Amino acid sequence: MTLIDIGANLTHDSFDRDRDAVLERARAAGVARMVVTGASREHSPKALALAQAHPGVLFATAGVHPHHAAEYTEECDAELRALAAHPEVVAVGECGLDYFRDFSPRPAQRRAFERQLQIAADTGKPLFLHQRDAHADFLAIMRAFDGRLGPAVVHCFTGTREELFAYLDRDWHIGITGWLCDERRGAHLRELVRHIPADRLMVETDAPYLLPRTLSPMPKDRRNEPAFLPHIVAELARDRGEDPAATAATTTATATAFFRLPPAA
Ligand SMILES: [Zn+2]
Repeated sequence: MTLIDIGANLTHDSFDRDRDAVLERARAAGVARMVVTGASREHSPKALALAQAHPGVLFATAGVHPHHAAEYTEECDAELRALAAHPEVVAVGECGLDYFRDFSPRPAQRRAFERQLQIAADTGKPLFLHQRDAHADFLAIMRAFDGRLGPAVVHCFTGTREELFAYLDRDWHIGITGWLCDERRGAHLRELVRHIPADRLMVETDAPYLLPRTLSPMPKDRRNEPAFLPHIVAELARDRGEDPAATAATTTATATAFFRLPPAA
């Protein structure tokens, strides 16, 4: 089984002490390639540097998460544009709206989102999107860019049936994380994931966040890492009524095409 983790926050401090071991465990688990999420002005260049240090294995996104929208200045916009020019940066984002936590004021979130959509429109790079509790504004802003954007993935999908079908109707891709394994918050996803066509479905850990609650044994430090992706794929396959090898093969093919990755070594 060969997997691609499309969302791993590998620049996170919690990986500083053992990042190479984490990558080795991922490889041993069949997670051949990973897209390192760039989610802030500080961490997007770090994501690129990490990808450059591991050519063909790690790729990066460059963006500013809605939590950090307040830091989105002209200078920041220029930095993201420079990052997006690198071949290792395979998507613009993580960007979007998060009205659940509201860590940045909503007008700042909308502005940072629009600016990053403009970068995606100008570069033609795919979009790595985040949406939480902001569905209507999210759709409205995306709609304003109709016809100007390349492919888009709504990463870490946790939403409703209406949201899922609205995204699929717009031909967007869906990223599924270990949220699926959360019996308190993710139970509704168990049925919904059956409706995602294989060529629109990708998988991600969102490490070090979202440790799958069904993992056994649980790591003592509760840190999620890419090596746990096969567990998520096994649960996803069961919910979709598929063989895990089939889910692995189709999600890997979809991610390779979506991010326009070079053929695997
Ligand atoms: Zn996110």
